[in-house]
Amino acid sequence: MSVVGIDLGGTKIMAGVLCEGVIKARVTVPTPEEGGQAVIEAMAQAARAAIEAAGVVVQAIGLGTPGPLDFKRGRIKFAPNIANFTDFPIVELLEQATGYKVYMENDANAAALAEHKLGAAQGAESTLYMTVSTGVGGGFVWGNKVLRGVNGQGGEIGHITMQPGGPLCGCGLDGCLEALATGPAMERMALASFKREMGTRELFALFQQGDPRASRIVLQAASWVGIALASLVKCYDPEVVVLGGGVALNAGPAYLDEVMRSYHRYMENWIIPPVHLAKLGSEAGLLGAALTAALEVGEA
Ligand SMILES: [Zn+2]
Repeated sequence: MSVVGIDLGGTKIMAGVLCEGVIKARVTVPTPEEGGQAVIEAMAQAARAAIEAAGVVVQAIGLGTPGPLDFKRGRIKFAPNIANFTDFPIVELLEQATGYKVYMENDANAAALAEHKLGAAQGAESTLYMTVSTGVGGGFVWGNKVLRGVNGQGGEIGHITMQPGGPLCGCGLDGCLEALATGPAMERMALASFKREMGTRELFALFQQGDPRASRIVLQAASWVGIALASLVKCYDPEVVVLGGGVALNAGPAYLDEVMRSYHRYMENWIIPPVHLAKLGSEAGLLGAALTAALEVGEA
């Protein structure tokens, strides 16, 4: 028996069938802008198409979704990137639309689970995962368990306070890791420094050419990531750390060197778990969603 994974994103929905650790019959559709029931219908259609293409019997659906989530009630509390998703009963509606039992997981937790079970941390007892891109997400996984916390807030590592009084974050607080180390955070600093709009692609290119202003911005962001990793490692004591996301994977070797320098500086006198780069790329969310269901029905 197999399970279906659905990865719900702000711009696209991906569905695929997990067979023996591999995603088969991948289907991608745009996320309907009107939100609500249209998103449910699009997810159900994508799942049906994937099941038909894979030609297998499916037991359940695993759904990876932006959050924060109310796991007890199967609801999305709010998702700023998807219209009309406030206190939205996504599990119940998707079960009605598909006829399958649905198990949901926060998208960053799902990616953490995928890297832990099938990716860069495969074989490890426990994994701390951090992704740095337009946001900072992550999760902590041990054995087959993902840390969700009592209120579904566990692993929200983008919002640990690094610099009280620092730049404002989308969550409304100041000085979060996400307000300091992401692509948009660096673009804000680049605008202030270069007096013009600059995307991360150009900023990273300048950084890799040794431009001093670009270097200061990118290295400072890298340093925040390293310090945050050191703090989190002391909280969770994982066997392996996995670092992924567009910033971490594209800023270049000098960025990663700085992450590691800061990480080691703030781990001095402690046992230092290895840091691996994420291996599953954009597939992590979909795989993790499917794994969430597979673990629930005893297929992984
Ligand atoms: Zn925040």
